[in-house]
Amino acid sequence: MLEVRGLHVSYYTLGGVIRAVRGVSFRVSPGKGLCIVGESGSGKTTLGLAIAGALPPNARASRGSVRIDGANILELGPEDLERVRGSLVSMVFQDPAASFNPLFTIGQTLGDIARHKLGLAERSEAREAALAALRRVGMPDPERVLDAYPHELSGGMLQRVAIAAAILPRPKVLVADEPTTMLDVTLQYQILKLLNRLKETLGLALVFITHNLGIAAEVCEDILVLYAGHMVELGPTDKVLEEPLHPYTQALIECIPRIDRGPGRLKPIPGSMPDPRRLPGGCVFHPRCPHVMDICRERDPRPVALDKRVVSCLLYNGEKGGAR
Ligand code: ATP
Ligand code: SF4
Repeated sequence: MLEVRGLHVSYYTLGGVIRAVRGVSFRVSPGKGLCIVGESGSGKTTLGLAIAGALPPNARASRGSVRIDGANILELGPEDLERVRGSLVSMVFQDPAASFNPLFTIGQTLGDIARHKLGLAERSEAREAALAALRRVGMPDPERVLDAYPHELSGGMLQRVAIAAAILPRPKVLVADEPTTMLDVTLQYQILKLLNRLKETLGLALVFITHNLGIAAEVCEDILVLYAGHMVELGPTDKVLEEPLHPYTQALIECIPRIDRGPGRLKPIPGSMPDPRRLPGGCVFHPRCPHVMDICRERDPRPVALDKRVVSCLLYNGEKGGAR
């Protein structure tokens, strides 16, 4: 079980402090998936890195917790973090090539992981574990792939190998950060199917990061919508997609290309994400919100539980403007 509670993450830069994640809470059970969606700069990757215990040195999780089977990742020192990375939580990135040393064969890289994370000292055992991981991700001709260098594989194959590397140490949580963005549509679909199968067969808690709400339904039972680091809506995928409550989720859904809407019906969200160093007061979405009320400029909405989900919008707070 992955449990994130009241998480805040900030970056410390020469230009000031960037509060990238502000009070995010959710749970993901083994064998289930949570999709994190939002526009560029909403804090998706930062949240993923915090879960994977891989925040850069200029970032700090100032409040909250990230627990995997009870252990708070945020309290671990560098040695313990190194130990749990892989064996408790792994991460897959958008560009698989960046995860591999171009001078090593796939077999050398996977063998290294098997030796360090699974303690397999024998070369033959490490090779066998690497082969098993490649088979698990449906890699055709895995023996040949072990002897290949990263540049000899296509983008789709390399992403499969990156997933094999991530699951090799048998983690409980897998964070996949835009893993299909660089692939063509057919390959995207194959990788989504693979992640779905792995999460179910290995009992992984999957955190899937994307800016495309349209693909969330393919892999995840739940959706978390982030806006400027704030959790604006969290709930079951079908409910959020069919009847979004938060005006920002509604706007994101309007952006999903749909055949039945026909050409020209795609509505971009007016305005842009605010500068994280100068967030507007009150509700952070108010400058772009079509339902904005006077109180939205003053009061920061708290997350409220409603209809099996959590939504942060004053339209649903009851005390003011509780019209819905
Ligand atoms: P994208 O979809 O473009 O990857 P994102 O939703 O994943 O965006 P993040 O990359 O988490 O968003 O960024 C959240 C905020 O933190 C942004 O304002 C970004 O500029 C800032 N940020 C991200 N990484 C760093 C860093 N290493 N140092 C300073 N600020 C950072
Ligand atoms: Fe819009 Fe107000 Fe809700 Fe913010 S709180 S999303 S401005 S209606």
